[in-house]
Amino acid sequence: MMAQPITQGKLLLNEPLARYTSWRVGGMADCLYIPAGLEDLQEFLQGLSENEPVYFIGLGSNLLVRDGGVRGTVVLMHNVLTGLHMDGSEVYAEAGVTCAKLAKFTARQHRHGAEFMAGIPGTVGGALAMNAGCHGGETWDIVKKVTTIDHRGQVRERDGQEFVATYRHVEMTGGEPLNEWFIAAWFELAEGAASEAEQKIKSLLAKRLATQPLNLPNAGSTFRNPPGDFAARLVEACGLKGYKIGGAQVSEKHANFIVNLGDAAAADIEQLIAHMRATVKQQHGVDLQQEVRVIGEFKE
Ligand SMILES: Cc1cc2nc3c(=O)[nH]c(=O)nc-3n(C[C@H](O)[C@H](O)[C@H](O)COP(=O)(O)OP(=O)(O)OC[C@H]3O[C@@H](n4cnc5c(N)ncnc54)[C@H](O)[C@@H]3O)c2cc1C
Repeated sequence: MMAQPITQGKLLLNEPLARYTSWRVGGMADCLYIPAGLEDLQEFLQGLSENEPVYFIGLGSNLLVRDGGVRGTVVLMHNVLTGLHMDGSEVYAEAGVTCAKLAKFTARQHRHGAEFMAGIPGTVGGALAMNAGCHGGETWDIVKKVTTIDHRGQVRERDGQEFVATYRHVEMTGGEPLNEWFIAAWFELAEGAASEAEQKIKSLLAKRLATQPLNLPNAGSTFRNPPGDFAARLVEACGLKGYKIGGAQVSEKHANFIVNLGDAAAADIEQLIAHMRATVKQQHGVDLQQEVRVIGEFKE
């Protein structure tokens, strides 16, 4: 178990993580820590035992927390590090800023290239970790450099070139997995008219509203699109739109989305994911790769 460091943030024990995920499911975290700022986060991490499992989360919009919860410490970054300003010609955004806020800010600053982020309901930290993207844009296309923090609380500034970002995946150059968390990033964007960027944001948001089931808890795309095809097309072609397990349902509106009808357990969602994957494999020979991340333990 963790040592109890003296910090200024908020430490919650046995905290239900369903409150912090967009699917609104998931068991309790042994500890949930909400840092008071960067120095506080450093102190907190320094006070943890080396073996303590630590998970960072943003808005939990790409996250399935299993019903048995998380053994270890979850650090909540949403609304924590929220600095957002111009740094010379670059946009500096801290990990707890929402993607929507970043997109709107960059537009107002007459910068083009981050409009796609407006409809991604996550944080800058989550977008960096996932290489979030849509409509032809991806987070790492516009990253110049980042700051990271490691398990011992050490902060580093790293150039964008030190990372390899592919479709919804980021690793260190040389193939090492990421074992640091993102604290902030500098975005390099082209100059352009604010009105043009704002118009683009408006039309991208309208498109989402028309095609995504935003009225029910979900976590966006369940699977990555396979090369040359769409996961939603494959799932729909299997006749799975509307298919239910417990309180989890393949959305009627978008077949790559799973919605929580109100009383879903994480186990329902996970079983539905397995069913969709097995059916697509059987009927189309395509092995879909999961986009949503899963953490935690099964409930006994
Ligand atoms: C309605 C809807 C639409 C969506 N549309 C899109 C889309 O168009 N494109 C797209 O790419 N995604 C989309 N998503 C998925 C999701 O919003 C993105 O993956 C987003 O980047 C996740 O950010 P988050 O802050 O919620 O991260 P979380 O879900 O909290 O975490 C996701 C992963 O990032 C890690 N992480 C979080 N913060 C940090 C940090 N500071 N440092 C290191 N690791 C961290 C977590 O450990 C976890 O592994 C959508 C989701 C929903 C619900």
